[in-house]
Amino acid sequence: MDTLLQRFLRYVQIDTQSDETSDTYPSTAKQLDLSRLLAAECMSLGLADVCCDEFGIVTATIPSSVDHAAPAFALFAHVDTSPEYSSTNVNPVVHENYQGGDIVLPNAEEKVIRVANNPALKSLVGATIITTDGTTLLGSDDKSGIAVIMSVAAHLMAHPDVPHGPIRVCFTCDEEIGHGVDKIDLKQLNAVCGYTLDGDGVGKIDSETFSADGVIVTVKGINTHPSIGKDAMVNSIRILSQFITRLPTDTDSPETTDGREGFIHPYHVEGGVAEASARILLRDFETEQLGEYATLLRQIAADLESEHPLANINVEVRQQYRNMRDGLAKEPRALEKAIEATRAAGIEPTMSIIRGGTDGSQLSEMGLPTPNLSTGEHNPHSPLEWTSVEEMQQAVDVLVQLAIAWGRELE
Ligand SMILES: [Zn+2]
Repeated sequence: MDTLLQRFLRYVQIDTQSDETSDTYPSTAKQLDLSRLLAAECMSLGLADVCCDEFGIVTATIPSSVDHAAPAFALFAHVDTSPEYSSTNVNPVVHENYQGGDIVLPNAEEKVIRVANNPALKSLVGATIITTDGTTLLGSDDKSGIAVIMSVAAHLMAHPDVPHGPIRVCFTCDEEIGHGVDKIDLKQLNAVCGYTLDGDGVGKIDSETFSADGVIVTVKGINTHPSIGKDAMVNSIRILSQFITRLPTDTDSPETTDGREGFIHPYHVEGGVAEASARILLRDFETEQLGEYATLLRQIAADLESEHPLANINVEVRQQYRNMRDGLAKEPRALEKAIEATRAAGIEPTMSIIRGGTDGSQLSEMGLPTPNLSTGEHNPHSPLEWTSVEEMQQAVDVLVQLAIAWGRELE
């Protein structure tokens, strides 16, 4: 049987980078290379209902091993890697029996994984660490998650004596560009809850994410030839600049907040004299606070319109995603079982919050409560990315216990 390490190395060497400028689904055809391989591997493991659909989404079922009707839960991981760093010709480097200390990457000696910035390394002396050669990202985000799920499937298929209910496996595309759940059919998945295997470290259970809205502020002014601009020109660039400078900077900004604090974040501006616009992110753990932020933006717009009567300022708010806490409340067992399983695997669970969104925040909102679990990822989207066989194995142990915990339930 394949080892966890063999699986991981096989998956990371397949280039599956997604592309946010593409208008196809999946955004890059190369993601299908891994999707098709995973479907074939699910078949050869003997999983039921194996399917790789036109969108590259792979689904399969680990059949129940108990006599009663236990509820089905789903396990998710994404095949794509981040567009932020090259994933062509990933050359994973396996550091067996790690002796502690900083790790210099062989093909880029200026790139060093320092213990000072990676305290998790301190408890991994003797472990098998996997890094890049320094020229690409590793893709542990989220091929650790895929390797963990496939190893659990292999383990449960080889050990029918382990009591568990049906488990749906689902590998998705385009998570890194915000489209991981676009094509998921929850009806067909037919599970009571899900778990994304896409978290860092060991034993963490992410049960909250930001709630998020996106805003486009558009200023419409009047362009004239500058030679005859007196009392006629209304310069959108100047008015938009005033708008930006009136946003809070000492508070409520990414530069000044952490933990549970939210923010207003202008991240893109474009335009000319006649029209200029800014894109702004609103983020907070409390969904109502997004409304307060939007009110502040509308107030600034109204103030500026009264100062510049010939200008028009439009504030358009679009909902992005919601704190998964709201959706998790519908199925309290999703978190209870994750906590129970982590302890049963000999790991003390840590409940954590994400200053961002996951596929789970969208799935939870769509009606499938889906927290996020650790898979041993570190430094994602970077050439300094690394993982360890031991941390991935701990994630496997947690999932086996999760299968057993759910297997005791009645549908
Ligand atoms: Zn990920």
